[in-house]
Amino acid sequence: MLNFNKNICYAVFGNPINHSKSPKIHNFFFKKYNFNEKYIRICASKQFFLKEILNFFENGGKGANITLPFKEKVFSICTVLTKRAQISGSINTLKKNNIGIIGDNTDGIGLLTDLKYKNLISKNDNILILGAGGAARGIIYPLLKFGCNIYITNRTIQKAKILSKEFLKFGYIKYLKLNQLHKNKFQIIINATSAGISDHSSLVIPSNIFNQKTICYDMFYGNTDTNFMKLCKNLGSKKVYNGIGMLVNQAAHSFFLWTDIFPKINDVFNFLKK
Ligand code: NDP
Repeated sequence: MLNFNKNICYAVFGNPINHSKSPKIHNFFFKKYNFNEKYIRICASKQFFLKEILNFFENGGKGANITLPFKEKVFSICTVLTKRAQISGSINTLKKNNIGIIGDNTDGIGLLTDLKYKNLISKNDNILILGAGGAARGIIYPLLKFGCNIYITNRTIQKAKILSKEFLKFGYIKYLKLNQLHKNKFQIIINATSAGISDHSSLVIPSNIFNQKTICYDMFYGNTDTNFMKLCKNLGSKKVYNGIGMLVNQAAHSFFLWTDIFPKINDVFNFLKK
């Protein structure tokens, strides 16, 4: 079992976790708003992660973020779910209160806020989502609600099929096999796979779905262009983004759930650039 220092009250649980910039962002927020609390990253065991998260909360933990591959797997430890968590079937934020543990999902609002802020999204856009894991689940409902049409593909196509059925009641969503992609036109292509972490994608995407105007958004991020970003640029796309804007915005919503303070985010971007 992990032992926690008294002022470590927040953490992100994932596996792998070294790439996560969440500690930087949240420790920046805690300092800025005068909280004497720390946020750390925890590489959770793929077998015992639920016990490890519960142990964290039993030892003073107040809030946590959940990242891959656990977002769909922490429902059993939640006492209450927000509507966003219920609809998405995916949890990225936990908060301990006197009743128990609240499960929330701030990924969708984080992505949509960033797409709107960057002026990248319009009603009726056709959006292709690559990937059907916990992160994809979190973003589908907000994008449908905004009025976009969603197309989804995945390495394991059965998972894309399940998601398309589950979210059909909220708007237009269709799953596509890789060999059907070329027959469609997409304004936005979002990479919601975790292939960036392993540096190898098994999705071979047809080059003709990209053009200069295609907006390509990798939810993964790094200090330099990700492999997906490089691919999109090579295929001619001029509007290519990583997931830092989404990350900061989803973090702001998690911070709000934990502290009731909605942090100003502009200065955190400058801090991360440094
Ligand atoms: P999950 O483990 O839940 O899902 C992983 C997804 O990636 C599955 O669809 C899986 O396909 C697919 N995948 C994994 N490896 C490969 C590969 N080599 N080639 C092709 N597809 C692959 O992870 P999450 O959904 O939680 O996270 C996905 C990504 O989104 C991560 O990179 C994460 O960092 C990023 N993310 C970014 C956020 C941000 O704020 N910027 C927020 C949330 C997530 P299959 O079903 O076949 O296994």
